[in-house]
Amino acid sequence: MSDQRCLRYELLGQRGLTLWFTGLSASGKSTICYSLENKLLEERRLCYCLDGDVMRKGINSDLGYTNNDRTENIRRLGEIATILTDMGAITLVAAITPFQKDRSNIKRMHERKRLPFWEVFIDCPLAICEKRDPKSLYAKARNGEIQQFTGIDSPYETPEHPDITLHTANSTIEECVQFLLTKIHCFLSSSNEANYKKTEILNSFIHE
Ligand code: ADP
Repeated sequence: MSDQRCLRYELLGQRGLTLWFTGLSASGKSTICYSLENKLLEERRLCYCLDGDVMRKGINSDLGYTNNDRTENIRRLGEIATILTDMGAITLVAAITPFQKDRSNIKRMHERKRLPFWEVFIDCPLAICEKRDPKSLYAKARNGEIQQFTGIDSPYETPEHPDITLHTANSTIEECVQFLLTKIHCFLSSSNEANYKKTEILNSFIHE
């Protein structure tokens, strides 16, 4: 770890960590992220929610939904996430991230910088997401008002080896958030980089 990163983490009393939430629209990524952010802030832990939809109104406002633009969208979010995590934040990224190659890229980006990265698959059947449809986006995609909508006329490649999978059709928001909090506590209490064993932390609880 660089001296500066070490000093920053010491100053904050915590190490940075990226949790990357991938899943269909309306699967529950932002709901879980914001609720988790609130819990962590209540515990006085520095964290930040990078919401893909919000970022598309700012730094990614020049991007659309072609495959290339989606890749660039994720690359930029990945770069920002590494900066926040390097700074010491628990960084919660909520973005559909439909393509396996983009998920692999952001994972590699973190590995190159020796930053911890957990891929969290928010698994929810399309039919249930479509029924929830909190922003009426599926309705718009079905009647042709929106094109290239993930799950309808643009693919979602199911993660092959996510670090954590949450089934939001069968678990409540509170259960999902509590599950993640427990894992984050476990991470934060493994006192330093050398002690950090991702598989031990993530295998120590099985979520059905
Ligand atoms: P996304 O960010 O994946 O597009 P949202 O979080 O915006 O999805 O919307 C998910 C919707 O599903 C919300 O209306 C939320 O209240 C609802 N929901 C029902 N059960 C869950 C759950 N277990 N986890 C997350 N969201 C849930």
